[in-house]
Order: sequence, then C-alpha cells, then structure tokens
Amino acid sequence: MTQAQLEALLHRFTGQLAGALLAEPFDLRAGYRVGAELVAAHIASAEGLGRTVEVIQLRLVRDLGLVAEDVEDRMARLLAAVATGYARALRDRTLDEQESIRRAAMMARTQAERALRASEARFRHQATHDPLTGLPNRTLFTERLTAALNEPGRGAQRVGVCFLDLDRFKVVNDTLGHQVGDRLLILVAEELRQALGEHLVARLGGDEFVVLVEGSGGTDDVVKVAEAALAAVRTPRSVDGHELQVSASVGIVERQVAGADPSDLMRAADSTLHWAKSAGGARWTLYDAERNRRELARYALSAAIPAALDRGEFYLDYQPLTSLRDGRMLGVEALVRWRHPELGVLRPDSFIGLAEETGLIVQLGGWVLAEACREAEAWSAGGVQAPFVSVNLAVRQVHRPGLVQEVRALLRQTGLPPERLQLEITESTMMSTAEEPVRALRVLADLGVRIAIDDFGTGYSNLAYLRDLPVTELKVAGEFVAGLRSPAVGRTDERILASLVSLAHALDLTVTAEGVETAGQAERLRAIGCDAAQGWHFGPPAPADRILARIR
Ligand code: C2E
Ligand code: CA
Ligand code: CA
Repeated sequence: MTQAQLEALLHRFTGQLAGALLAEPFDLRAGYRVGAELVAAHIASAEGLGRTVEVIQLRLVRDLGLVAEDVEDRMARLLAAVATGYARALRDRTLDEQESIRRAAMMARTQAERALRASEARFRHQATHDPLTGLPNRTLFTERLTAALNEPGRGAQRVGVCFLDLDRFKVVNDTLGHQVGDRLLILVAEELRQALGEHLVARLGGDEFVVLVEGSGGTDDVVKVAEAALAAVRTPRSVDGHELQVSASVGIVERQVAGADPSDLMRAADSTLHWAKSAGGARWTLYDAERNRRELARYALSAAIPAALDRGEFYLDYQPLTSLRDGRMLGVEALVRWRHPELGVLRPDSFIGLAEETGLIVQLGGWVLAEACREAEAWSAGGVQAPFVSVNLAVRQVHRPGLVQEVRALLRQTGLPPERLQLEITESTMMSTAEEPVRALRVLADLGVRIAIDDFGTGYSNLAYLRDLPVTELKVAGEFVAGLRSPAVGRTDERILASLVSLAHALDLTVTAEGVETAGQAERLRAIGCDAAQGWHFGPPAPADRILARIR
C-alpha cells in the first residue's frame, strides 16, 4: 500500500469513527468494523495497530475541534472496540490460515504417501524379482519358503522343493554367446511358469531355478512337479535362429513342515541337485538322508587333512615294482596312508578323491612328494643300486605353476638323484588342452625324472598322444591283468595286452603291469614281454624299513 492509499484509508476510518463518536445513541459497532478493516487491509502488526490508534486519537480530537475531556469516555470505549474488532479479525484470520495450512499439509501428505507407496511397490517388485526373466528371485522365494514352514496353511503340513539347473548351459553361453544364453533363460523361465501354474517358480541366479510345492501330499506330488519341469525344459525351441533343446537336472526335497529349516532344506536340495548332475543329468533325484550323512562324513574327513598333516598322521607305504626279466626291485610306489586317531588306518581311496575335489590334495601331495624323496634317498646308503621311488601326482598338482621348482628344490634338499624319482600321472591329466603341464613335465624329464602314465587302459588309452609327451613308462591298470586269470576272457585280454606292450615298446616306453596277484599272471606277462610288475604276488605295500631290509 502506498503512503497516499494508507492516508486515504486512515482518513476514511477517522471519518467513520468521528461519526460514531458524535452519534446518538453511541454505538460501538463502528469501532469493531474499523478494527476488522485494519486487519483486512493487512495492517496486521502490533505496531500497525498502535500507530493507527495514535493517529486516529490525535486527529479525531483535533479535526473535530473537540475538548478532549468531553469525549474522553466515548473515545476510550471506541478505541477499545477498534482493538477488540482488530483482535477478533486477526484471530479469525489466523484460524482460517491455520485451517488452510492444515488442509494443504494433509493433502501434501496424502500425495506423498501415495507416491511413496507406488515407489515402494516398484522397489519391492525390483527387490523380489529377477530383472532378466521377471520371475520371483531368491529373496521372494526364501520369504515364501520361510512363511510356508512357519505358518503352514490348512492341510499344508508338508512342503516340497525342486531345485533345477540346466545341463551344460555354459556350453550354450560359450558357443552361442551370452545374448542367446539370456534369451534361452527367458524362454525356459516362461515355459516353467506356464507348466507349473500354481507353484511358485523362482530364478536363483544363473541357470538355477527353484519350484516351491506348498501343501505337498508326499514325494509323489513333488516328483510329478519335477517331471513337468523337466518336460518343459526339454521342449525344443528356437532361439535367435538356433534350434536349442536342453535338458536339466532336478534335486527334490520333500519333508514335513514341522521342524524344517529353510536354509537346511535348501542345502539338502543343492546336494541332491549335485547327485542328479553327477549321475549324468537330465533327471530328477530324491534327497537321501543316509547318503547325505555319508558325504558329510567324507567332507569332514577331507577338511581335517591340514590339521592331520600338522600332527603327522600321514605316512607312506611302498610297494615294489619288480622286473619281470630278473626279479630285481626296480622301484617302489609310494602309497599314502592316514593313521586317523579315531577311525584307524585309512586307505587313500577314502580321502584322496575328496582332497582332489577340494584342492587339499596340493598340500597333501606336496607332503607325500617330500616324504618319498626323503625316505628314498636313505635307501642308497651302502652303495647298493637303490630302487627309484614312484609318486602319484594328482591332476591339480601337475597343473599348478611351480611344480618344477618344487621338485627341483626337493631333489636339491634331499640329495635324491633325479633318476630315482618317478612321477605317476593319469591319462586325463595330459588330455587337457593346457600346454603348461606338458612343458613342466618336459623340463622335469630333461632333468632326468621319470614320468609314468598311471592306470593306463582305464581312460582314453590313446597311445598316439604319448608320442609327443616326455613319458618313460606305462602302468597298465589291474583290470587288464585280472583278465589273465580266467582262460576264456584271458585269451582276448592277453592279446590286447600283448599288442599294447609291443606298441609301447615301439614308442620306447617300458610297461609295468599293476595288480599282479598270482604266479600264473606273472608268467604270462613275462611271456608277452611286459617289463615289470606290481602286485601282491611281488609284495604288498609295506613301510619304508621293510623296503630298506629288502634292499639289503
Ligand atoms: P594306484 O596308483 O593304482 O595304486 C595301486 C593300488 O593298488 C594301491 O591301493 C595298492 O595297494 C593296490 N594294489 C597293490 N597290489 C595289488 C594287487 O595285487 N591287487 C589289487 N587288487 N590291488 C593291489 P591303495 O594304496 O589303496 O591306493 C589306491 C589309490 O590311491 C592309488 O591307486 C592312487 O591312485 C591313490 N593314491 C595313493 N597314494 C596317493 C598319493 O600319495 N597321491 C595321490 N594323488 N594318489 C594316491
Ligand atoms: Ca599309482
Ligand atoms: Ca595305478
């Protein structure tokens, strides 16, 4: 408001109040009205009111030429009415303002809540679904499984889980590319969803899917679901112009809701899936508590290997490798044993396999190699021609960089001549495409270390590739030798062995037959030109001191 406007306004008020002051009968309402108008004109501060009252009071008395004492009483009451009108109007306005503020705040809150709910729903959907396939993800699945186990619905006293994994999905990814792999996953997800209708189908990641069967009536129900899932996966489909027919493996767990634990159940499903895989895939497998117990025990055993190494619970037996020409002990094979504090002496078959899977074989194998070199070196004392020691090397040991340095260091530390060390590797170790192991073995062979192929005949039995490898010896698996026992089969086995021996000789390899248990077998092996033999007939695996005694 400009100064002029303000003055005009105040002038108007003054006029009204002057009228009221002199009017008969005296009426306070003009005062209330002026008070309210002051507020309406936004002269709403405390100072504004004070100044206004002051101006009105001074000008009124002066302009009207009144004697202050004559109108004192009326003037005071009128000004009080102005103040009251002013205060009422101000209160009303404040209340109005508060009300509209409240209403605006409420509206804003409702809107904010609505937006929040929408974004929460979106967020929750994102957090509980797999972006690629749109299927529920692990989080949602775990929620639903936990709920099923904790709050079983009416009649839903049992629950089943099918843990599904595509077979050889990696091949699709590797050969056709990730885009095709992703498309395949999307299609499989959709097919599973359609085939399994009411059951929750989730993608756990990669090519892993899981189906929750709530209210199962027993294993048969869940097996049916698994079969439907396998059939859905099996249907041929075209992905980006590639005809793709894939198979899957399913691990099934079906159990009572009471006492079941979600993570326990999923672990069981995972193990069962692996059983299905290791049985060749394209099948379902049912959880077996006894089998699981055995595997856990086996796993616990392998996990105990490092501590057992520290405590010195391992030792080596040695089994003679005897010349079939002159009966001399050419070498000995080191065979590891575990003197377990509770289980007694364990044969390698009960712990080597898992140590290979878990990688602990590297540590254990390293110890075996060192121990064998150390003990074998002691046998040469006295000048007699001591046998070489033949040590089994697991695939992982051969593929590990640093094998050459390890062997070199051991030979240097123990003083064992390289010619007195033989490393036994299996065919599969050499069948991989990696060049590094071959190079390492060549370096070792150049040092003078002997390299033998173990269990020959049980794997690829491919002599051709041996031509390019630094191999000195073939150890023919006991299965072939066992055949020499019964005359009918014996004839064929004998012929196979004979041609194997002559082929090996043509490649400059010596042949040692394993598992020779009888004099008859030994005789026939000698007859077909086999160089050496190993087996109970020539001596069982025995502690180092017995070998030493034999050398002497
Ligand atoms: P392998 O290398 O084929 O070792 C020969 C196995 O045949 C030994 O079993 C030996 O006791 C057994 N054997 C010896 N003579 C006869 C016989 O006349 N008839 C029959 N039926 N069997 C005979 P062992 O000691 O139980 O070793 C089993 C396997 O464990 C070995 O098979 C080898 O693959 C593995 N192994 C043993 N020690 C080590 C090791 O230090 N490192 C690695 N990586 N594997 C080892
Ligand atoms: Ca061996
Ligand atoms: Ca063998």
